[in-house]
Amino acid sequence: MIMNKPLSLLAVITGLCIAFLHHPLGAQTAMDADSNQAIFSEQDLAIARSLRAQGLEGNGGFDVVEELTTLIGPRLAGSPADAQAVEWAKAYLEKEGFDRVWLEPATFPTWHRNMEKATIVSPVEREMVTLALGFSPATPEGGVRAEVVMLDDYEALEAVDASQVEGKIIFVRNRMERARDGAGYGPAVRARSLGARIAAEKGAVAYVIRSIGTSTNRFAHTGSQRFDVGVRSLPAVAISNPDADQLERVMGLGEPVAMHIEVDAEFVESYTSHNVIAEITGAKYPDQVVAIGAHLDSWDVGTGALDDGAGIGIVTEAGRLIKSLDQRPDRSIHIIFFAAEEIGLWGGRAWAEKNKDNFHAIQVGAESDFGAGPIYEIRAKVSDEAKPVIRAIAEELAPLGIEFGGWGAWGGPDFRPAGAYGMAAIDLRQDGANYFDYHHTENDTLDKINPENMVQNASAYAVLAWLSAQSPVGFGSGPDLIGSN
Ligand SMILES: [Zn+2]
Repeated sequence: MIMNKPLSLLAVITGLCIAFLHHPLGAQTAMDADSNQAIFSEQDLAIARSLRAQGLEGNGGFDVVEELTTLIGPRLAGSPADAQAVEWAKAYLEKEGFDRVWLEPATFPTWHRNMEKATIVSPVEREMVTLALGFSPATPEGGVRAEVVMLDDYEALEAVDASQVEGKIIFVRNRMERARDGAGYGPAVRARSLGARIAAEKGAVAYVIRSIGTSTNRFAHTGSQRFDVGVRSLPAVAISNPDADQLERVMGLGEPVAMHIEVDAEFVESYTSHNVIAEITGAKYPDQVVAIGAHLDSWDVGTGALDDGAGIGIVTEAGRLIKSLDQRPDRSIHIIFFAAEEIGLWGGRAWAEKNKDNFHAIQVGAESDFGAGPIYEIRAKVSDEAKPVIRAIAEELAPLGIEFGGWGAWGGPDFRPAGAYGMAAIDLRQDGANYFDYHHTENDTLDKINPENMVQNASAYAVLAWLSAQSPVGFGSGPDLIGSN
């Protein structure tokens, strides 16, 4: 996932701050099936439990991510592989026999890299492992060579006087902290998403960051920068964490340090890709929709297995499990493969715009986009009336090791734009302690996925989607829910 826009950054910060307000579970775990029967029919509960059990016997959608990463591989939004992925996804979902499969357009600016190089040239010579950041402009041919100024973090960059960095290469060394819920990402990622434009304003000639990631391996972590037409930026690269350590040590020698940075990359003004949507048509309220999703695009390095091929597999398997029931759910269930998440949530924005006058009919949105770690808690942003229903759903998820985590959710990055219109949202929060070891690197490949965890995830999404579709009440939407996560 990305969280590079102010919109999503805010979501990360607010989401992560409240993550620690765990609701006491004592009263909840004392509830049993009987209390849930006051909310759901006996049959709906029996189906939920059977989905849970079936899910645990399935493969969690591992075959889906395996096929996606093998046949398509990396699929940067706007690249030829993106178009192939959309075509593959539509065919795949049709083959699976969903009631309806269709495409919805999303148009966005995009970018592609040709090459990047970052080298310490003095007082020692050392080539760094590096990746250009999304939307980095190219350097002049032959690159730029300049003295390096090292800054602690984004705040230091904002504070530094232009006279100190003019004509220099800025290196921001902030280090992302590891956390189960990814809490280290929000504070660290500003250096990536917004740093180069600040550096440009202050007259620097290139911008280098320590990778926003927790890996100690020699892989650089790329990721998007905020892009606005007409705002000047600088050639910008991330160096791997061990290389950043090396650069810090060289800076520590106390002599002037010079680097050479070269980037060749191209900006594409407008490209149209598609969200791919599969429907299980509701039997009673076909126009009301439970939306579960993941994003189909990935970065152009690795094969986008954890980010977000795993999510694509998980929600597809959840859909397959529900589709294989004899009975159709009351509300429709949509499985959404979002376009162009990584470079600015464009699929999520397009979906929100398309549905903006219709959010009363969207029961809830929940996206799987945090790798393939086990889910440990459910959080929800719903109306007060729906809260007992969420408690009951949490109770059905408890056997999967999932606890009720409290009120307040954003639904994942691609449902964030819809959240701005007050859509109800649920987060099934995954353990992401290792997620940022691989995030946006060449090392995000299929072998990093533990299929057992996907099984737990898919099982949980199936139970969640089914019971959300059978809920006796709407989860609510509108002004009351705006900003409440
Ligand atoms: Zn992602």
